[in-house]
Amino acid sequence: MIVLPPHIASEIIAHAREDAPVEACGLLAGADGVVQRCYRLTNRDRSPEHFTLVPQEQFAAAKDMRANGLQAVAVYHSHPASPARMSDEDLRLAVAPGIRYVIVSLMSEEPDIRSFILQDGVPVEEPALVQESPE
Ligand SMILES: [Zn+2]
Repeated sequence: MIVLPPHIASEIIAHAREDAPVEACGLLAGADGVVQRCYRLTNRDRSPEHFTLVPQEQFAAAKDMRANGLQAVAVYHSHPASPARMSDEDLRLAVAPGIRYVIVSLMSEEPDIRSFILQDGVPVEEPALVQESPE
């Protein structure tokens, strides 16, 4: 399960809309699956169909997470015109097992945010709750 406080969900959606039709991407950090911070990164591919993170930006985000006692919770990216499912390209480019993928789809009027974890190369969806973090 991943918990996205409403202001984080809004940030991801805003980023996705600003970068459309190119896919937006970034990192989500927090603790125990509860996201506390969103790092907007650059899609090096500048593509509407796939994304690649910029290593220097990833490194800077990781450094900031460490400085703030946060852990990487997920990689997020947008699907400007397709459903919130992992595409063949996403699976081909997936970097590490065990990392979560949060995908926001702008295909419908109401953005759809979903989260997946790769298990043996197969994306398994987990609940993505938009709510304030539990106290
Ligand atoms: Zn994708």
